[in-house]
Amino acid sequence: MRLDTPLSELPASHRVGPARRAAFARLEVHTIGDLLKHLPMRYERIEAPTTISELKEGQIARTSGEISATRLSGGKGGRFSKSGRFEAVLLDGTARLDLVWFNQPHLTHRVLPGMRLRVQGKVNRYGVGLQIVNPVWELIRPEPEAEDRPTSTSAESTEPRADPHIRPVYPAVEGLPSSVIEKTVRSVLPSVLDQIDDHLPEAYRHARSLPELKAAYRMAHLPSSEAEHREARRRLAFDELLLLQLGVFLRREQVRRSTIAPALTWNSTIDRHIRARFPFTLTPDQDKAVTEVAQDLIRPVPANRLVQGDVGSGKTVVALYAMLMAVASGRQAALMAPTEILAEQHFRSIADTLEGSKVRVSLLTGSLSDRERQDVLAGVASGSIDMVVGTHALIGETVQFDALGVAVIDEQHRFGVHQRAGLRGKAGVDPTGKPMTPHTLVMTATPIPRTLALTLFGDLDTSTIEHLPPGRQPIVTRWVRPDQAGEVYQWVRTRLDAGQQAFVVVPAIDAGASTAGEGGDADLNDLRTVHARLESGEFAGKRIAVLHGRLSAQTRDAVMHRFRAGEIDCLIATTVIEVGVDIPNATAMVVEHAEQFGLAQLHQLRGRIGRGTKKSVCVLIGEPGNPEAESRLRAMVETTDGFVLAERDLELRGPGEVFGSRQAGAPPLLVADLMQDRELLALARRDAQAWISRSPDLAGPDERLLRARLMRQHGKWLGLADVG
Ligand code: ADP
Ligand code: MG
Repeated sequence: MRLDTPLSELPASHRVGPARRAAFARLEVHTIGDLLKHLPMRYERIEAPTTISELKEGQIARTSGEISATRLSGGKGGRFSKSGRFEAVLLDGTARLDLVWFNQPHLTHRVLPGMRLRVQGKVNRYGVGLQIVNPVWELIRPEPEAEDRPTSTSAESTEPRADPHIRPVYPAVEGLPSSVIEKTVRSVLPSVLDQIDDHLPEAYRHARSLPELKAAYRMAHLPSSEAEHREARRRLAFDELLLLQLGVFLRREQVRRSTIAPALTWNSTIDRHIRARFPFTLTPDQDKAVTEVAQDLIRPVPANRLVQGDVGSGKTVVALYAMLMAVASGRQAALMAPTEILAEQHFRSIADTLEGSKVRVSLLTGSLSDRERQDVLAGVASGSIDMVVGTHALIGETVQFDALGVAVIDEQHRFGVHQRAGLRGKAGVDPTGKPMTPHTLVMTATPIPRTLALTLFGDLDTSTIEHLPPGRQPIVTRWVRPDQAGEVYQWVRTRLDAGQQAFVVVPAIDAGASTAGEGGDADLNDLRTVHARLESGEFAGKRIAVLHGRLSAQTRDAVMHRFRAGEIDCLIATTVIEVGVDIPNATAMVVEHAEQFGLAQLHQLRGRIGRGTKKSVCVLIGEPGNPEAESRLRAMVETTDGFVLAERDLELRGPGEVFGSRQAGAPPLLVADLMQDRELLALARRDAQAWISRSPDLAGPDERLLRARLMRQHGKWLGLADVG
């Protein structure tokens, strides 16, 4: 037997039949090695034996007694059908316990009245009495014939060290209960354990007090104490995190060595000129971010920096600073926004800021005519355009740059290693003819929880703007039930009468097609309904406009333009206004069906207000249908801190769902848990960084196995080059 032996080729004594194999296949378990990696999801503690009268509902208990009666019933196909139930009554003089086995009609010949049995299993209430379904059992007085001695599933231990009080519980599927997985693991584990090679060098394991890999697998499957399965988990979780972090740092090292970037110039004259363009003084946080960014840009290595800061914290000027550094060094800069509205807004504000300067800025969006588009593309390719603002399509597209120095990606939640790869070679060539990669800045207002950022984007440096520019009023958030909507709108009306502006956000344009993903709800207050209501009701006489994704880009732009100019009082919109829209006079927001939005989305939406010096209020109208939705609304009321909300989101939804480890393409973590294992993660990260700086190719004689496992696990999604 070997680790790569398929389950179909096990010797007769360990045979796994075709039906079970098919069930194992559904768990992605095909070989013995796969089986060992199918780890228990938890462990059940089995109580010391008790009398039947002491049994308590819900516990995993052991008890014993005498069979007083048995019965086979139910099931199609008669007495020997595989379905149906076999029942037995167990008495011990203190009380009665009913035992029920499903699909085991043969027990009718093995469990007979008068026999004494030891049983183990979960105690359920059944009518007035207690019962155990499918108990593990054994005879107390063995029958004379050995063949007849029934040993039940987990009683036939081949591993003397395992503690029978601790039972592993495996992820199971229909037709393959945990107990069968347990039995199969027990039967093969001893023969293959010694074949498990450790990829971590012994000295390192010692330094970190990690058990050997084979010991970890033994302790995970057959723990002799709770301490053992905890130790096993620690090793296996750490392994996962360490491999991931080694991959991330290995990639970083490879990128560092294989790509070059144009080193930009930075001196006090350039700094003074750039700052002179800004209508305000930078905050200390912005200053710090600018310094960090600039120090990246002067190196001939492609910068890869995340600038995170809450909505309205002022990330744009940090980006503009970097872009102007590129232009000052005779290079180009590109700014990419997730939507056309945002691209247009950025373009307008940059054009305003640079008015009267020599910097040539262009906008490249889908709403340009073919001719305009050709002109911009030609200008970007020839270098006559210094800065281009567009949507994220700029990256992937075949837009040719003369010499792109800095690429800024704004407000993007999802960015994978692969997306950034699209920028390679867009920075022209260096004096020796080698293609160069531009520096990249990613700006996000949806901060990635630090835990996740460290794990998946460990090759990204981060700058954080923690404090908002001076003079901001905190946003007050309230959550009300739908029956209070009337009062809410009357109050908003008073704001509109005072010359301020408001957003009303709805989850869908019409109830037939929800943009929040819950399509076809007739009760939904969609954009049409809300519009009709406000127009003839609370907001009668006010200037109302709608904004949604089905309008053409030109129409949307025109609406935004009028709203910004104060020609519209209230904008009723779907989530197209989600990110980046900057209108300081908008001080109120009402979100209809707030329970339908995700936490990150609500936070983004709320960021549309509170951008001026007047106090802003956000009202969430919602009737949450589940505790999770309610937690989201509560979190929104409790805090406006995007970092806190991002961590909360991670807790509520789990890391896989948030900001996409899936989008990034990373394999899921099977043992480690980013919330629970923060300390392990920090350790793995530190060690991985030190490891790669010491051994940048992982080519040492005792690193071969490590390298092979690393490549298998992470080579593809990280795009690691295997030079070994
Ligand atoms: P975000 O980080 O959400 O992209 P912006 O860059 O759009 O934020 O900035 C939000 C608003 O704050 C803008 O109106 C901007 O002009 C203003 N702002 C940014 N930095 C400062 C500052 N240092 N002092 C005053 N206002 C600032
Ligand atoms: Mg912004």
